[in-house]
Order: sequence, then C-alpha cells, then structure tokens
Amino acid sequence: MKVKVNDDACIGCGACTAIAPEVFEMNDEGLSTPIVDEVAEDSIDNAKEAIESCPTGAIEEE
Ligand code: SF4
Repeated sequence: MKVKVNDDACIGCGACTAIAPEVFEMNDEGLSTPIVDEVAEDSIDNAKEAIESCPTGAIEEE
C-alpha cells in the first residue's frame, strides 16, 4: 500500500501525523507528507485510520 497527500486539500491539521507518525510527517510548509514509499504491513491499519480521519479527504491510497 502506498499513500499520497494532496497538497491542495491538506489543511495541516496534524491528525494523520498523530495517528500514523511512522507514515506521515509535517513538512516545512506545514502540510503532511508521506515519509515512506511503501506502508509497512504493521502500519496499514494506522494509515487507513489516518485516511478516514482526514477532515478534507486529502490522503489517497494508491
Ligand atoms: S489529516 Fe488531512 S488535513 Fe490533516 S494534516 Fe493529514 S492530510 Fe492534512
């Protein structure tokens, strides 16, 4: 599983980085960015929860 953050939709709320800090981090622009190319097996549940929790639907699963 891969994840992608749409910069135009992310409002920098920090929800995804709180839920899945091993998958997302805030960049210098205050927006979330994935830090892994492929989400580890152990992190898939967290990544999916982050996708569902994003208030703007900015995270896409690829
Ligand atoms: S949860 Fe969504 S809006 Fe919030 S920081 Fe993550 S990608 Fe951006």
